[in-house]
This record gives sequence, structure tokens and C-alpha cells, in this order.
Amino acid sequence: MERGTPLAGPRMLLKRLRDTMARGVSAEETLAEVVRLVANEMVAEVCSIYILRAGEVLELFATQGLNPSAVHRTRLRVGEGLVGDIAAHGRPLALADAQSHPQFAYRPETGEEVFHSLAGVPILRAGRVLGVLVVQNRTRRQYDEEEVETLQTIAMVLAEMVAAGRLVSPNEVQQVDGIGLLPLRVDGVQLTSGVAIGRAVLHEPRIVIQRVVAEDVGAEQERFEEALASVREDVDRMLEAHDMQSGEHREVLETFRMFVDDRGWRERVREAIASGLTAEAGVQRAFDDVRTRLGQSTDPYIRERLSDLQDLTNRLLLRLTGRTNGESGGQPEDMVVIARDMGPAELLDYDRSRLRGVVLEEGSALSHVAIVARALDIPVVGRAPSVLSRVEPGDTIVVDGDSAQVLVRPSEDVVQTIYAAIDARAERRRKYAALRDLPPATRDQARVGLYMNAGLLIDMQHLEETGADGIGLYRTEIPFMVRSEFPDVEAQAWLYSRVLDIADGRPVTFRTLDVGGDKVLPYVDAFGDENPAMGWRAIRIGLDRPAMLRRQLRAMLQAANGRPLSIMFPMIADVSELLAARRLLELELDRARRRGLPEPERLRVGIMFEVPALAWQLDSLLPHVDFVSVGTNDLMQFLFAADRGNARVSARYDTLSPALLRLLHFVVEKVRPAGVEITVCGEMAGRPVEALALLAIGVRTLSMSPGAIGPVKAMIRSLDLTEASAFVSSALTQPDRPLRETLRLFAADHAVEI
Ligand code: PEP
Ligand code: MG
Repeated sequence: MERGTPLAGPRMLLKRLRDTMARGVSAEETLAEVVRLVANEMVAEVCSIYILRAGEVLELFATQGLNPSAVHRTRLRVGEGLVGDIAAHGRPLALADAQSHPQFAYRPETGEEVFHSLAGVPILRAGRVLGVLVVQNRTRRQYDEEEVETLQTIAMVLAEMVAAGRLVSPNEVQQVDGIGLLPLRVDGVQLTSGVAIGRAVLHEPRIVIQRVVAEDVGAEQERFEEALASVREDVDRMLEAHDMQSGEHREVLETFRMFVDDRGWRERVREAIASGLTAEAGVQRAFDDVRTRLGQSTDPYIRERLSDLQDLTNRLLLRLTGRTNGESGGQPEDMVVIARDMGPAELLDYDRSRLRGVVLEEGSALSHVAIVARALDIPVVGRAPSVLSRVEPGDTIVVDGDSAQVLVRPSEDVVQTIYAAIDARAERRRKYAALRDLPPATRDQARVGLYMNAGLLIDMQHLEETGADGIGLYRTEIPFMVRSEFPDVEAQAWLYSRVLDIADGRPVTFRTLDVGGDKVLPYVDAFGDENPAMGWRAIRIGLDRPAMLRRQLRAMLQAANGRPLSIMFPMIADVSELLAARRLLELELDRARRRGLPEPERLRVGIMFEVPALAWQLDSLLPHVDFVSVGTNDLMQFLFAADRGNARVSARYDTLSPALLRLLHFVVEKVRPAGVEITVCGEMAGRPVEALALLAIGVRTLSMSPGAIGPVKAMIRSLDLTEASAFVSSALTQPDRPLRETLRLFAADHAVEI
């Protein structure tokens, strides 16, 4: 078979396409010329262009070889026939015997029955399908990889022409913010409950390439090498400036090593440029090729590499286009943010009044982004595989935290069902709101302390709404994380004092800084532990940097200004740490006295029980504390040696495992007789079944995110605690089976609302 040399052919073709465009003839003539040129170049009897029109229809817009009368008559739905299949999956197809393919849909008006082989590629722009380019031959011809790549290159040029309105009038094309592909369901895990609907915003938006065809291939090769060198320099600088071990930078480095030094990838880009593309189009082409080959893989390692390559591609495209993205039009009114992963500060950068939901490719329920999202009452689905490559900005997205699903481009009836679910949820909320002023007491009159976790001033509004008894955990680090420098004593004191003002006499427990681990302060450079969750974090930093901790304690005393104050130290692993922290508090109390500041009317000091070792130090610890608050998020990860932020392992261990409950039972039995209050403030406390188990083993105070107060109160008010305690005690003596199912049955039998 005759073809030009692989490089000269497409390059010549691109040049001819450009010349055709430059002649300024009508769109119809241009299209006719394009299909003629492509058919010629590909030695194909047929070349056709289908364009996606409003209503999910692919319409034949131009053809060389099929019946000309089929133009604008032949229409296929996305997903219908081979052309529809290419559009639906956004990937090429090359078939020697197309008619025997199960998807083949015969259209008599085209006269295509005599053509046996077919190769087609999607016309993609910024990942969105705009149409399909197809060639066909009479013989059963095997199209090779190079030929398919040539078609992809042409499709890129066509995409720019379509987008620029040069081939088809823009109002004939499916609107860019409309539905481009078939609806899709992506299963993930629930990070935050709730259901929301909105339009997709990519956290790191894709870059739209404006210039596809190169004027000067040599110059484009140089631009590519320069961009690569400068991305390499950026990474080197980052590595110098920060600790090389810290997660993000190491990942970048690895991506870099994998692809920049990967001759195969580099060669692909260089070849694409040599075929007549600009450097940016070449980089995009190389990525599209890899995605076509590996995109269907479910292997997590491959998926991870693919998102790494997407990162590198984005960095290069940013460099090469000097642009940020195609979404400069601002954020939609109802955003669903899609990201690979995200820190809590990044989430807070979004306008809360427009943010409806979040979808992450990674993430786990105990990560801080999830905790912040919960505080903001935003549904989040995590571990949604390759969602970034399947969603386009502007797509309608349903985030269904309750069933851990993401619906991409749902059909109209699904949208209606979702609105109904959102209404039903609002109805449930009204029901919980009706419980607001009723006491959280069980049927057999055990009064439970029902407190709320908070970390932002905006959380405080929920105190009144939920009728919680107070704030059981105020995470002070969140304001530290979203600033660009360390807040001074005045700024901290102002904040804590506002919190106390809003609480209006209800108790607030302030936890001292719990940074480190996944809670990174942008202005503290000293992190970078290889194993951050078990590294230099929380009280360990506070004790090593006593001035920092003292300033925070000073701010708390100043804010209280004589009002009752409750302070909690996180991550205590050894009694000596608590004693050291208490000494710093004493120093600050002395300082306050010397300055004539009123002492808190009542000062309560407690610790977070997060490190298992503390269970065997309770006798010496308890005389020094007023309360012990169990942080099950961290306790679980240390107890089971399973990183709470690592999606692969964090869900392996059930919060209702007998191991955890027996440990907690042991602690409760030690703490309560000593007259010390015991609270649970980890996420576990906010789930009705878990809360039931905690009450049954003797916990009487729970602190949780605001959204959990209603459901947990409903559970408490329907519970007979005496029965539940007897049931759980006996269940805990059984062999090591998770209690979840047994407790559900118990709840069903005893009409406990869970
Ligand atoms: C915990 O560890 O359970 C806890 C409440 O603290 P944080 O989630 O902030 O680490
Ligand atoms: Mg913790």
C-alpha cells in the first residue's frame, strides 16, 4: 500500500489543510476539500466527518466516497453504530471487518455496504467530543497505528476549526457547555453524606490549545525542549527549597523521572511535532495516545501513572500556552469541584455559596478535606476512578455521597429524581430541626451530652441551629492553615473570643494546634517526615516550639477574659507531655495574673486520647486532667497501623470492630470512676450505629459534625440504653465479629432510629 513517509505525509497534509483554510472559501467547500485531502492521503475510498449536534446527534457533515445525498441526512445517536461508539467512548476504532462488529449500524442512504474496513477517531477539544472523523475502504484492510495517529492529528486540526466556527456555524454544533458524551456512573466511596447537583469545575483546569498547526517545525521542537527544561528546573528548585521527602514533591519528581526521562514518551511528542503540530498540540497528542491505550485499564498503578502524566502534560501546556484554562468565564453558580485530591485550605478557596459538592479521585473519609467539607455540609465522593479524565468542565454532575456514586451528564429523568432526593433530605432535616429543643435523653432517661465539632467561625452558626450542648472540639488549626503567615496573639485572641461570644455561655473546648501530618502550614517549612502521621505533629511541635504553644494559650486566656475556658492537648502519648504542656499553661496563667487579666471562672484541661500507649498510663494521667476526649480518627489509624489518609488501607478496619470497642470500654471503665469526663469526638461519634455502641459501653458525651446531631439525637431518643448495654456487652464477648450487622438487627427489633 502506498503512503507517504510517516512524517512527511501528515505534515504535508496539515500544510494543505492550512492552505485550504487560508483561501477563505465557504465552510462547505472547505469541508469537501478536507475530506478529499484526507481520503487521498490515507489511500481511503471514503472519508467522512460527523459533527455532534444539539440533542446528542452525530450528523454527517461531509463525505468523500459515500452518497453525497446522505450529507445532513445521516444521523446517529451518541452510542449508536460505530461512529456513535467512537464518540461515546472518546477513543479510536480500527476494524478490518467493520460490518461484523456488533455495534455496526447499517444506513442504506449512505451506500456504505461495499466498504468493509473502517478507522475512525473522535474529534476532541480539551477532552470533549465535537465529532468523529472516519475513513473506510472496500478491502478488509488493517489500519496500522501510524495511520490512526495521522487521523488523530487531523482530528485535532478539525477540532480547532469546528471550535473557531470555521467549518460549521457555531449554533449548528452541540453547545460546548451542553452534554457531550453519554451519561456515566462512577462508583467511589462516601467521604461526606448528602446529595448535590451542579456543574463540573476542574480544580486544576484543562488547558485549551488554540494553535495546532505549526509554522516552523524546528522552532516548535525547540519550544518543547525549552518548556521541558523549564519544568525540570521548577521541580529542581522545589526540591531544593523543600524537603525532598515530602509527598507532593516526591510525586512530582517521580512523574518527572518517569516521563521526562522516558525516551518513548519524549519521542512521541517529538514525532507529533514533526508531523506538523505545534509543541502544545504535540504534548496533548502524546497524552491522548497514552490515554487511548491505557485509559480503559482498571489497574490502579496504571491509572496513577496516567494521572501523573496528565499532571506533567498540564504543566507543559501551561508553560507553552502561557494560559491558565478555558474557564476564565468564572465559577458557575452551582459548582461541583473535581480534583485528584485536595487540601482543606484549597477547598476553602472556593466560594461556599456556590459550592455544591466535591468529587475526588483519591481521598479518604478521615482526611481533613473531608472533615472541612462535612463542616460546610458539602457532599463529597472520593476514590472515584479516573473521574478527571471522564468529566468536562460544565458537565452536569450529581454527587451522591449517600450511595457513594457520581453521575456524570445524567439524563433529565435522573436529574428530576435527584431533585426529589434533595427535597426528601430537606424534609428529614426539618424533622431533625423539630428535635432541636428536645433533650438528647434515651427512653430510659439517660441524658447524653451532645456536642458539636467546629473549626471555622462559620461553623458556629450551627450551634444555634442544631441545639447542641456546646462545642466539644474546636480545631484551632484550620485558620492557621488557610493563612499565609502565623497569626499573632491578637488575631488568635480575637477569633477565640468571637467563638466564645457566639457560644454565648455554652461550653467550648479549644484544642491546641494539631498541625503536622496531613495538616500542613504553608509558612512552616520544617515538616517533611517520612511518616508524617507518626512524625513531628500536634503537641510534639507545641512542646518543641514552646513559644508558639504559649502564644496560643495566651490568646485563649485573653479571649476568655474571665469566662470559663476548656483547653485540650492533642496527640498526648506520654503523661510527661501533658505535664510539660500544663507547665506552659501555668506560665501563661502567671503572666496573665501579673498583667491583671481576670482568670477563667473555671479552667478545664483535658487531652485527646489518640495514641494507644496512653491506655496503659491512665492511672498516672487521670489525676491531671478534667476530661479525656477520644479522637477515634487517629486512634484507629494507630491501633490498626492503617494510615487514615491512605485510601487503600483506611477503610480496611471497621470502627465497630470488637478490638476498638474493647479498648474503649477498658478506657471508659478506668476514666469514669476517677470522676473524669470521657467524650468521643472522632467522626465515629457522629454515626448513629457507632454512637449507639459508644453509649452502650458507657460513653455519655459525644461531639460530632453539625449535620450528625439530628440523626444521632433521633437515635438517642428512641433508644433504651439498659437494653442496648446488655446487648453490646454480650456481643463483645462473642468471637471477633464486627458488630455492625448485629447492631442493625438490634435497632430494627427495638425500633431504634439509625
Ligand atoms: C481524631 O483524631 O479523632 C480527631 C478528632 O482529631 P483530628 O481528626 O482533627 O485529627
Ligand atoms: Mg486527631
